[in-house]
Amino acid sequence: MVKLNSNFGKLTSSYLFPQIEKKVSDLKARSPSSEIINLGIGDITKPLPEPIVKAIVDAILELENDVSKARYGPSIGFSFLRKAIAKNDYLDLGIDENDIFISNGAKCDIANIQELFDTDSIVAICDPTYPVYVDSNVIAGRTGFYQDGKYQKIVYLPCEEKNNFFPKIPDVPVDLIYLCSPNNPTGTALPYDELKKWVDYAIQNKAVIIFDGAYEAFINTKNTPHSIYEIEGAKKCAIEIRSFSKKAGFTGLRCSYTVVPHELKVQNTSIRECWVRRCETKFGGVPYPIQMGALATYSDKGKQSIDTIISEYVDQMKTLTSGLKSIGWKFYGGVDAPYVWVKAPSSSWEFFDELLTKAKIISIPGAGFGSYGEGYIRLSAFAPKEHIETALNRLSGIYTCATQ
Ligand code: PLP
Repeated sequence: MVKLNSNFGKLTSSYLFPQIEKKVSDLKARSPSSEIINLGIGDITKPLPEPIVKAIVDAILELENDVSKARYGPSIGFSFLRKAIAKNDYLDLGIDENDIFISNGAKCDIANIQELFDTDSIVAICDPTYPVYVDSNVIAGRTGFYQDGKYQKIVYLPCEEKNNFFPKIPDVPVDLIYLCSPNNPTGTALPYDELKKWVDYAIQNKAVIIFDGAYEAFINTKNTPHSIYEIEGAKKCAIEIRSFSKKAGFTGLRCSYTVVPHELKVQNTSIRECWVRRCETKFGGVPYPIQMGALATYSDKGKQSIDTIISEYVDQMKTLTSGLKSIGWKFYGGVDAPYVWVKAPSSSWEFFDELLTKAKIISIPGAGFGSYGEGYIRLSAFAPKEHIETALNRLSGIYTCATQ
């Protein structure tokens, strides 16, 4: 008799988004005329720029006459895109196009990359965190059961106010380390020295870092590393994953890339070779028109339009943070990431409820990202500027330096 992968039984149900939706729909039912503003958004709110749309449309038209573009493409991605990424994003860092793998979203690679490592590997994950790091390791059988807000066997790295939300090196040995910078949900980015501590640790302890740079395009602070490969030695111990999703509006189109440097070896085996093998076995590649769209993000016109969009999001973030400052709220992030991590005067869910009922604003309760997210909410700059302004007007009418 076939048996289920029993690890699925360990997964906790994620009540976060269903619970938020339920609370919002209850409010709508109670007061149908209320205009609810969503500041919880983790998705793009601006359409795809014209040069990228044009590149995709042109590529689709090619399919009518050129069967080679419609056939199975290389699982690891077309060389034209891998070359462009190496040249534009990693020129000074010595990353070879052959070490770059195109994928259909960072989420998939983040979830799949753990397959390369032994099931007994000890995994270290920040708390609060993007949940995919945790759940993919639960499904793979690297954890015990969920107890008191934590999975047994995961080494949680608390990211707290007192440490500027930077994870500290754990006092127990770990093998696989997930880092996300700029961070979802805390909105903070790791400075050079903090990232260097992790690279040094990984080299000394023969560990591997999975570095999630999905929000790299939002880094504004000088000297904040955009890539982990800016740290000496990182090519020997780190895999970096980036995405066109938030940078260029590809959340629905699906295109990302993973860098597995040929220098990275585990037990004398090339991790890059294992990832090639894994891609060839399990992945069919990203459609040609989507990769052509991603290529267009590196053209002069593509770069200009992306810069414009990012600077609009940054402007929205500045509006949000200066409004929050003026009502005296304590918050973090919002400089190098599209998210702000707001300290709640009560529990995450109580503050969520308060904002929803009093100001008709949707936020994301920090507790949904891990136990150290309790006492915070996440707000997002992906909301349209006029929504942010209306939300701030409502908040200043209610709070004005009173809450915290
Ligand atoms: N990494 C982080 C930290 C994210 O917040 C997200 C999406 O919200 C992703 C990765 C997924 O990106 P993609 O759309 O490329 O799958």
